[in-house]
Amino acid sequence: MEIITAVKEMQRRSEQLRREGKKIAFVPTMGYLHEGHLSLMREGRKRGDVLVISIFVNPTQFGPGEDYDRYPRDMKRDLALAQKVGVDICFTPTAQEMYPEGFQTAVEVEQVTKNLCGASRPGHFRGVTTVVAKLFNIVKPHFAFFGQKDYQQLVAIKRMVKDLNMDIEVIGTPTVREKDGLAMSSRNTYLNPQQRKEATNLSRALHKGEELFHQGERNAAVILTHVRGIIEEGKSAVIDYAKICAPHTLEDLEEIKGEALIAVAVKIGTTKLIDNIILKEE
Ligand code: AMP
Repeated sequence: MEIITAVKEMQRRSEQLRREGKKIAFVPTMGYLHEGHLSLMREGRKRGDVLVISIFVNPTQFGPGEDYDRYPRDMKRDLALAQKVGVDICFTPTAQEMYPEGFQTAVEVEQVTKNLCGASRPGHFRGVTTVVAKLFNIVKPHFAFFGQKDYQQLVAIKRMVKDLNMDIEVIGTPTVREKDGLAMSSRNTYLNPQQRKEATNLSRALHKGEELFHQGERNAAVILTHVRGIIEEGKSAVIDYAKICAPHTLEDLEEIKGEALIAVAVKIGTTKLIDNIILKEE
């Protein structure tokens, strides 16, 4: 596996691969890899001739007081996992390399970033879309893979690619979960054993919502009352939001017609966890 830290070198390498007619699959990550990341990489392996990943904890998507400094990092372990899963090139720039002195340009997707995490994390998606646009210009992929776990991020990136005519196919892949249902996340390592137990309430609550939907309930408020009730069984759980939205616009729905997204964000202790599920007729 090649490890590249310089932007120019990554661009040269990708240009060379493209000239050879190779299809480049790309998986951007912030590292501290888990099975969720590895599942994206396995999908990438299938679609591309060459699999490139990035490991970069992007400072501009963290707000003041968020966990940028304490975000878990373990490059040695990450590189071993990436190698094992068949990654060809790992791009690991420094923040200085990505944001040199004088940097002042941003990509902002306006509407779909307003609700959900966009409401509670001002500037977050601007940081995400800007870094992903930069990574796309550096890695020059044909395919890029993102997890449905971060559903709003996936929608925003698809929108950016469409609106800015980026010649890249964005592929969303299903959320990978622990045996007890908890969506895998690098942030799960922050949880103590009691909080870890409470964290399973998120997926339990989403499944309850899904069950009600399949029983015929279409009123969002009714479903959300049950969802909130389950999450609030956890003593240290504080709900940031629990919402039912249209899956493409991410606007709130009162009455579900067709498909819908239930999305939740919950603070357990100091750890913010998110999860979601898509409701669709069987
Ligand atoms: P992160 O390192 O958290 O920025 O995530 C990198 C990529 O992995 C993003 O596209 C995430 O949506 C995806 N991802 C994170 N957790 C999971 C999971 N549990 N299942 C599937 N994909 C995930």
